[in-house]
Amino acid sequence: MALFIDSHCHLNSPKIAPLGDADALVARANGAGVSGMVTICCRMAEEPPVLKQIADKNKNVWCTIGTHPHDASKESEKAFSVADIVALTAHPKVVGIGESGLDFFYNFSTPDDQAASFRKHIHACLEADLPIVVHARDADADIIKIIREEGQGGKLRGVMHCFSSGAQMAAEALDLGFYISFSGIVTFKNADALRDIAKTVPLDKILIETDAPYLAPEPHRKNINEPALVLHTANCLADVLGKTRDEIGDITASNFFNLFTKARDTWEQ
Ligand SMILES: [Zn+2]
Ligand SMILES: [Zn+2]
Repeated sequence: MALFIDSHCHLNSPKIAPLGDADALVARANGAGVSGMVTICCRMAEEPPVLKQIADKNKNVWCTIGTHPHDASKESEKAFSVADIVALTAHPKVVGIGESGLDFFYNFSTPDDQAASFRKHIHACLEADLPIVVHARDADADIIKIIREEGQGGKLRGVMHCFSSGAQMAAEALDLGFYISFSGIVTFKNADALRDIAKTVPLDKILIETDAPYLAPEPHRKNINEPALVLHTANCLADVLGKTRDEIGDITASNFFNLFTKARDTWEQ
């Protein structure tokens, strides 16, 4: 049986709650054939206990630790040092750091605070030997610049989550050794450019995700997103890349474990 992993979702989001609690969402995903998922942290000051509890309770559910760029100006998030972040990742099911990055579309936090937070997260990744989950919106050049400056010449590994940038960003991210994660956006009718980019990404660098509760794929665009729906993204990539859905599942699951090595260590059959 093929393996499908949702590399990025938010199981503790209030916006996903109408569908059920985290355990119910995991059960629904498992029932649909999605075997694992990473529930991603946005507020380091608030979420880690809940995320670790969800990961502890559920087989093949992992989590991250980090501050979303939207929240980078909050004093409670700024208070965390690199050492504090590293300490929070000691739990066996914390498999990465993020989501961090830059969002200059919304600018809910100041650009300077976002950049400082991103650099701090990168330092923590290098210290903890964990991948970074990067959120990038309207900030491609700055994202690449900061990774080049802080990434210690390719030592930093990570993923451009919910990739929605252009071909140049994809090429530069790949040049840095980063993975590219496709969300439900790739299924949207107007996403021809993104589907064209998908054809240029080496198969061993592709991940899939939902970013649930956001961005539900076609034909569920009006609904709340959930990890079970990652199958639609796999289906779309299969069409675009001339593979079967199961092949996309296995390829992206294998890539997932190559990047999130701690997830491989705690994988349960
Ligand atoms: Zn994001
Ligand atoms: Zn997210």
